[in-house]
Amino acid sequence: MIISQIYFERYWISSKSLSFNSWMIGLVIIITYFIQEFFLLQISLVNINQVVFMQVIATVMVFRNRVYKIWWPLLALTPFFANLAEYLLGLLPLTNWWYWIVESIVFTSISLFLVKLHGCSKRARFFMAIASLGIIELITLAINRNYSLVSIAACKLGLFLIAVFEEQLVKVEQRNDEKIKLIQRESQRDDLTGLLNYRALDHEISKLANKNETNNIVIGALDIDHFKTINDTYGHFVGNEVLNHFSTFLRKQIHTVFPQHGFVYRFGGEEFTIVVSNYSIKEVDKLLHQVERMLSEQPFKSKDGFKLSISFSCSITNHLKDESLDETLKRADKMLYLVKENGRGWINSDRYSDQKIENGTTSPLNMTSE
Ligand code: GH3
Ligand code: MG
Ligand code: MG
Repeated sequence: MIISQIYFERYWISSKSLSFNSWMIGLVIIITYFIQEFFLLQISLVNINQVVFMQVIATVMVFRNRVYKIWWPLLALTPFFANLAEYLLGLLPLTNWWYWIVESIVFTSISLFLVKLHGCSKRARFFMAIASLGIIELITLAINRNYSLVSIAACKLGLFLIAVFEEQLVKVEQRNDEKIKLIQRESQRDDLTGLLNYRALDHEISKLANKNETNNIVIGALDIDHFKTINDTYGHFVGNEVLNHFSTFLRKQIHTVFPQHGFVYRFGGEEFTIVVSNYSIKEVDKLLHQVERMLSEQPFKSKDGFKLSISFSCSITNHLKDESLDETLKRADKMLYLVKENGRGWINSDRYSDQKIENGTTSPLNMTSE
C-alpha cells in the first residue's frame, strides 16, 4: 500500500501530460488515501480482530523527501477516521471518543518533532517515529481491553518490517537519483575537452537570467582561426590536442579572473562560448586580449613536437533582458562573421549594448550590434 501510494503520487507529479493542478492532485491523494485506509482497517479487523497500522502510510509519507504538505493533516485525521469507521461498523462505543483526539495530537506532535529534530540521522528519527507508533498502538489496545499476545507480537513485527522495507526503498531511490544526476551532468559535458556543452549553456543562461542578483550577462563567441588547416597539416590528433590546450587555457583564465561568474562552453567543433555574469564587456574584452597575447607569445607544442601558434576570432555582447539565448548568439555570430571577413584574430566588442546596460535603459530587443 505504501509503495502504491508513493508511486501513484510520483506518477501524478511527474506526468506533465496531465494538466491537473495541485488542488486536483491533493484531492486524488486524499480520496485514495482514505480508500486504502478503509481496506487496511477491514483487513486488520478480519485477520486479527484489531485496528492496526492505520497511521503507518501517513508516517512514512511525512518522512519522505519530496512530499506534499497534505500528509500532515492526513496523519492527524487518521485516528478520527479509524475510530469513526469502527464506531459506524458497530465495533466501538463512543465512550472513548476523547482518546481519538489525544491519539491524533500526541502522534502528530511526535512526528512533527522527529521530522524537525536536528543532530540525529533521518533513519534514526524515522525508526523512532515507527516505534512510538507501536507504543501508541499498545496503549490503544490496553484502553480498549482488546488484545492478545500473538496479535501484539505480529503487529510489532509488521511495523518493524515496514520500517526496514521503507529504509531499503529510500536507499534504492537515493542511488537512482544519484545515477540520474550523474547522467545529467555527463550529458552536459563535451567528451574531448571536458568543457560544458550547448545543452548546459542553454540551461545556465536561463538560470542566470532568472537570478535576482544577476545584473548583466556577457556572452562571447570564439572561433579558432584556420583550424581546418591545422587538421590538414598536422592531422586530426594534433587538432584534438590544440582543442584541448585552447579549452584548458581559456577556462583557467576565465575561472581565475571571473571566479564563480565565468564559464566556458564548447559550442561545437572549434567554436566556444563564454558566459560572464556581473562583469562589464570592457572587463571581459580586457581578459580576452590578454589571452590572445599569451597564446601568441607561447606557441603550443604538440606531443609529436610540432610548434604552432593559435589565434582566434571573437565577438562579445550582452545578453539582453527578455532576449532568448538564440537571439544573443545570433547577434554574436553576426559580429564574429565580421571579424572573419576582416582579417581574423581580433575581438569585436558590442560596446553599445554595454552602455545600454550600464545606463539601465534596457529595452533592447530591436537593437543591432554594429
Ligand atoms: P576559420 O578561420 O574561418 O574559422 O576557418 P576554420 O578552418 O577554423 O573553420 P572551418 O569551419 O573551415 O573548419 C573547422 C574544422 O574543424 C572542420 C572540422 O573537421 C574540424 N573539427 C571539428 N570538430 C573537431 C574535433 O573535435 N577535432 C578535430 N581535430 N577537428 C574538428
Ligand atoms: Mg568555425
Ligand atoms: Mg575556425
